Amino acid sequence: MERRDIPRGRFAPSPSGRIHLGNILCCLLAWLSVRQRGGKVILRVEDLDTARCPRRYAARMEEDLRWLGLDWDEGPGAGGSDGPYYQSERTALYQAALERLTDLGLVYPCFCTRAELHAASAPHREDGQVVYAGTCRRLSAAEAAERAKSRSPALRLRAPEEEIAFADGHMGLYRENLARDCGDFLLRRSDGMFAYQLAVVVDDAAMGVTEVVRGADLLSSTPRQLLLYRLLGLPAPAFVHFPLLLSPDGRRLSKRDADAGLDSLRGRAAAEVLGKLAYLAGFNPSAEPRTAEALLADFSWEKVPREDIRIPAGLF
Ligand code: GLU
Repeated sequence: MERRDIPRGRFAPSPSGRIHLGNILCCLLAWLSVRQRGGKVILRVEDLDTARCPRRYAARMEEDLRWLGLDWDEGPGAGGSDGPYYQSERTALYQAALERLTDLGLVYPCFCTRAELHAASAPHREDGQVVYAGTCRRLSAAEAAERAKSRSPALRLRAPEEEIAFADGHMGLYRENLARDCGDFLLRRSDGMFAYQLAVVVDDAAMGVTEVVRGADLLSSTPRQLLLYRLLGLPAPAFVHFPLLLSPDGRRLSKRDADAGLDSLRGRAAAEVLGKLAYLAGFNPSAEPRTAEALLADFSWEKVPREDIRIPAGLF
């Protein structure tokens, strides 16, 4: 049997702080979706930004996931043939992919500073990201070489004037014209750090991931990733995006939301946390405690809402 015949899902958290309820819901859904079909779970630590994601945070995150009963078959502490499982140790793979894209003539250096990027009259996307105006795309090779003497450039991929559409497993059809809605996007920052978009594609392909489950805030990243899969000649996984969890006052959860973080949640039983989350996400009939294992019987994507989910005040 081919490896891809068995569903392979993954947790891909960035340990920049203690995981919060949104991260837990993401891991729970990814785990249930793949375990229900007898598949494998991989844990990959997305610590590209090593300054923000020190190893001690990753260790605590792994411990929190174990405490929740969300286990993995491949990844830190579990072995597996596709390691290392920390992105900070996989840069040679990202470099090889970058070279392949460069050979296709699709990569160019960008010298714009942050201030210049924001000052450019490019339209802003709904998600607050700036659409790159393409300023450095027009530099000649000689100009670029001259500028590179005083400033190391970021590297961007030329976004094609093309609509990329895909059927999300939960949110339905999603489409984006990359040139218009996104612009040429970053593959590597000027400080040498590889971009999430490139790393996630290289890793999901290398690890044989067949299903990516993640929050709807990453829906608009998917067309960029699909383009990269195509250019790199890699098979793309299925994508399933789920609605975001909002705090009781309607804001997106962040690692700063102490109430939603595991620091306060570890005082209770893991099943209490999972039972309440599953209730909010539509597949626990009441807010009663449930283990991840017990939720396997009730989980189905059809029960999960498509609109953002606000956590009622006082539930946790
Ligand atoms: N590392 C990303 C995050 O924690 C998730 C990336 C993904 O699931 O594709 O937001």
